[in-house]
Amino acid sequence: MLIDALSFEGAVAHAVIGATSRHRSIRIPRLLRIVSGRAAVAVVLRELADGGDARFLFVHSGAASATGYATSLAAEARSLRLQVTECVLASSPGVATNSEGSVRHVVGSIDRERPDFVVGVGGGRVVDVAKLAAAEREVELVSIPTQASSDGICSPVAVMVTPDGRPHSLGARIPAGIAVDMEVLGQAPTVTWLSGLGDLVSNLSAVLDWRLAHRTVGEEIDDFACLTAEAAASSVIEDDADLGDPAFRQKLIRGLILSGIAMEMAGSSRPASGSEHLISHALDRLLPTPRPHGLQVALGTVAAYLLRGDACQRLVSFYRAVGLPVLPRELGISNDEFTAAVANGRSTRPGRWTVLDHVGDRDLEKLRAVLERDGEGAWEAEAASSR
Ligand SMILES: [Zn+2]
Repeated sequence: MLIDALSFEGAVAHAVIGATSRHRSIRIPRLLRIVSGRAAVAVVLRELADGGDARFLFVHSGAASATGYATSLAAEARSLRLQVTECVLASSPGVATNSEGSVRHVVGSIDRERPDFVVGVGGGRVVDVAKLAAAEREVELVSIPTQASSDGICSPVAVMVTPDGRPHSLGARIPAGIAVDMEVLGQAPTVTWLSGLGDLVSNLSAVLDWRLAHRTVGEEIDDFACLTAEAAASSVIEDDADLGDPAFRQKLIRGLILSGIAMEMAGSSRPASGSEHLISHALDRLLPTPRPHGLQVALGTVAAYLLRGDACQRLVSFYRAVGLPVLPRELGISNDEFTAAVANGRSTRPGRWTVLDHVGDRDLEKLRAVLERDGEGAWEAEAASSR
């Protein structure tokens, strides 16, 4: 029997509608462009404007390098007849930090300028401030990172610093568009790339913690978010990884963006933030001068593998090959400071169950013994024996 095309399509549509309760929708950015040069970025903005008279509010930090880029990018966009105004965080009291004061400053600019898009141009803090202000006024956000130092490029999560100096994660909206300019990223210090790599690889630890929480306390798990977060991290773990190689850098950027999508799927930072992030948060509180986020997280990742009894030989070799820190002293952090951060990690985010909820004095002693032993062999041996 021949099936009429229209009624067949109708039947398929009906089947899909009938099964909608078993599916879900997530928001992903409309555009993701990895380009080179500000002229190409301006074209991406024009694409987002749909050729219409959309208004863009550029948010940047006031730091010399980022401001120079944002200002020249704004000029480039105006040359394409786009309507661009600027909000410089340094002109606000309490300035270019991810503080509530900075968010209020941007919200004020949004109220005055009534933009269709808020464009965060800068490092993680600037993008986070733009993200929160845009979410508060329900304006679309465009993310234009000038560093690849964290997975905040595309995530629906932003980190704010409270008045007492403590970082605090808040929900925000995922960007509507992302334009990555490899030229400006190429000018960022190597440590920013290394930090981004540490943050991305930490997904592996975060997912292991989530699975542990699922098995131990019955926490609901999102398999697709886990799959995406792990795939993003695994994509950069390769024997000949070279952070100076433009192709590897692009892979890293894509992985960081995919991490943001995993967080959007989960509706939280869970697939990209486990015990290793809690250890880093504790270091932020403990150290007079915290080290870059992704590097602290990298240390936390190796420690978390050890505490869970997961094999980490391959991870440690990868760290060594690319220059990520394995031992606290490589970041100028003492073993006392680091074990104190491990012990205090839980308190930085009550409610996020991780292996740290299991850690007792014996585990801390064992960890300290490994830290004090010289040579990377210590990690492998300990991880193997505790499995
Ligand atoms: Zn992170």
